Amino acid sequence: MSKTAYRLKNLTGIHLLLGSAVHEVAEYTCKIIDSSGKLPTEETLTDKVRFLLNEAWKESRQLTKDLSPWKASPKKYLFLYEFYYGYGISKDLIAKIKEKMQFSIKNLLTCKSIKELQEEGVEMRLLESMDTFELFGTPVYAVPDLVYKRADGKWVVVDWKTGKEDDAHAAQLNVYCMYLRDKMGVDVEDMIGRVEYLLTGNYRDVEVTKETFEETERDIKESIDEMKAALADPEENIPHDMYSYPLSESKRFCRWCNYYELCEEELSQDGG
Ligand code: SF4
Repeated sequence: MSKTAYRLKNLTGIHLLLGSAVHEVAEYTCKIIDSSGKLPTEETLTDKVRFLLNEAWKESRQLTKDLSPWKASPKKYLFLYEFYYGYGISKDLIAKIKEKMQFSIKNLLTCKSIKELQEEGVEMRLLESMDTFELFGTPVYAVPDLVYKRADGKWVVVDWKTGKEDDAHAAQLNVYCMYLRDKMGVDVEDMIGRVEYLLTGNYRDVEVTKETFEETERDIKESIDEMKAALADPEENIPHDMYSYPLSESKRFCRWCNYYELCEEELSQDGG
């Protein structure tokens, strides 16, 4: 069971994959600006995203014919759940993804943070994407997408988003800013937390203060305690039996959940 869950965890969806590909070209764009002061072209970025999507498409199609390589090393492959679960990718979905890709790349190249990054006296920091910081004895994976210091001394912490605008992003930005506080010793008064919505071209500077940090820390503590309480043995990180956890109240997204295969039988008994 845990092996299957681990494999399913490594599936990805076409929208998520586009999001990762756009994050990759955003990182590439920042590195090019940092090294040459120039901006890559829209065409270069589009080619890179297309390449990643095509590779995942080919790999997924191949894996549906023979699952054994994926079963042996699920982390090594880009396997789309649209292929794994046999849903397929319709022409409409392809058109939607293409449109999303075009908007995201155009908006990336003209967004506020990329403009600021090209200004005189800006210092960019490249961060290790798998880094963590510790809160309440628990490692937190929360590395910002981009961090730079402006000439006015303000540190801007950026999160790229390719999905819809959501109030929850403000709390997420606060966690990224805590990373900056803990790892780089930056004062909260000198930070600007920013979400760049690449689909629409909007951005949002979120409130980052000592008070919002305290509020976010309280929420994280509550969430850690809830997760620990849901385990049979919190010290050893051992869960209860799968069936002792309830199914999701809303079944709306179950079909698009990586773990659908594990819940399928229970969902059908539940009338889902
Ligand atoms: S109940 Fe639905 S959302 Fe929850 S794990 Fe199962 S399939 Fe996923």
